[in-house]
Amino acid sequence: MKIAVLAVQGAFIEHEKMLESLGAETIELRQKSDLEQDFDGIVLPGGESTVQGKLLKELDMYDALKEKIEQGMPVLATCAGLILLAEELSNDDKRHFATLPVCVKRNAYGRQLGSFHYDGEIKGLGVYPMEFIRAPYIESVKPGVEVLAEVDGHIVAVKYQNQIALAFHPELSDDTRIHQMFLDMIK
Ligand code: GLN
Repeated sequence: MKIAVLAVQGAFIEHEKMLESLGAETIELRQKSDLEQDFDGIVLPGGESTVQGKLLKELDMYDALKEKIEQGMPVLATCAGLILLAEELSNDDKRHFATLPVCVKRNAYGRQLGSFHYDGEIKGLGVYPMEFIRAPYIESVKPGVEVLAEVDGHIVAVKYQNQIALAFHPELSDDTRIHQMFLDMIK
């Protein structure tokens, strides 16, 4: 199984290591021609969504990636990746792929509480070590979106068809269950 990790900015190496530890092959998406390879799933890592969104357009990768997601290719998106997928952002005029019918608030915990650790329950997985870094949260979801986790009344993990999106960083923990869930979804 081959997973393509968006590698234009942010925490992509940690995803690659985790996926490889689970036996998956990874490739990096750095330029348009990388999208011509065969792969079975996409990871959109954390980082800075504004920068990633801008680079996707500048590198002319945006349309082809959006099309793959819309056609049903499995996606695992973390933090900035969640922002890239969101159909709506409550505190930003920009939209990126807009394939996930949720409304997301960027930097939702403010500067003081921007980064924290929380052991929270994930539906189907149990308690999971969640690392939040200047994290967004999901303010609302449209019908069809399955809520996988909430922290303090705010949604931090969802699944919608082929898309899994998280406000936190599973690749920065040593718990591989979310990446395994993603690989199982592809099988
Ligand atoms: N604050 C970042 C953004 O708005 C996301 C942070 C992250 O990916 N850890 O894009």
